[in-house]
Amino acid sequence: MSNYKPLQGMEVPRYAGLATFFRLPINENPSSSEIDIGIIGVPWDGGTTNRPGARHGPREVRSASSLVRLYHPVSLKSPYDVSKVADLGDCSVNPADLKDSLSRIENFYTNINKLGIKPISIGGDHLISLPILRGIVKDKPLGMFHFDSHTDTWDSYFGGFKYTHGTPFRRAIEENLLDPKRIVMLGIRGSLYDPKDLDWAKEKGVTIITIDEFFKYGINKSMEIVKKVIGNNDAYLSFDIDGIDPTFAPGTGTPEVGGFTVRESQGILRELSNINFVGADVVEVSPPFDVNNQTSLVAANIAFEILCLMTKTSGKL
Ligand code: MN
Ligand code: MN
Repeated sequence: MSNYKPLQGMEVPRYAGLATFFRLPINENPSSSEIDIGIIGVPWDGGTTNRPGARHGPREVRSASSLVRLYHPVSLKSPYDVSKVADLGDCSVNPADLKDSLSRIENFYTNINKLGIKPISIGGDHLISLPILRGIVKDKPLGMFHFDSHTDTWDSYFGGFKYTHGTPFRRAIEENLLDPKRIVMLGIRGSLYDPKDLDWAKEKGVTIITIDEFFKYGINKSMEIVKKVIGNNDAYLSFDIDGIDPTFAPGTGTPEVGGFTVRESQGILRELSNINFVGADVVEVSPPFDVNNQTSLVAANIAFEILCLMTKTSGKL
């Protein structure tokens, strides 16, 4: 195994070579204490209730990520100088069986967690966050920064079906994987099924900052709220690409107009450098609905911001 550095663009052109996340070495059988952060594809969209295709996300994001260089543009630091990072390949899934997929994903992440590797996962639809959390939360519930246009705390779909990409965080709170009082959901918008759609989460103590509230408060006050609510203990970061405006990220299953620009999203992430993230995901990239692979490129750059956050090499430090 190499030194866990990306392939250098000055040695092999960035469009050449096999596509791995950020041109990192691939290691599908990591051993203990070898890797600090693993980037993992979860090519599964069996929780999707509307436009599918997120199962194709990992492959396209791998390809787009070859355009991301080594150093953060603000901090001028590289995550690869301080952490061993590798592409751990794709998690095993079963496209014909939802329950089997949930248990395969949970088992994969239980193993990653035992090895002490912090995962950054590329989905896949948003239901993948549930089995990931089941795999990595072993002692006490995590806080969470959740960037999305939807809360994903609906109860069920089509008469009682409990596992869809609209329900993962309701299940995660019910299963005590997340502490609702340490969750912030940012960017919530779009038409609702019912005016009470957000009530369950609010009653549990989740802090919701709608996109209208974000622009009313401004970024500084909004991010102060985020940091205060999540605090210093371990937290998870879940980034649904549909939190970004579909103008910039059209390749997604449930687009909501009136969203964040990519620039605003980068600024938001760069304010999170003091939070102790132990895992993260970027989900809902659906390449069949994309235009010129631009959503995959956005997702790759967002994943790089998150990698810099988790290695404390983001712009704010
Ligand atoms: Mn969403
Ligand atoms: Mn979502």
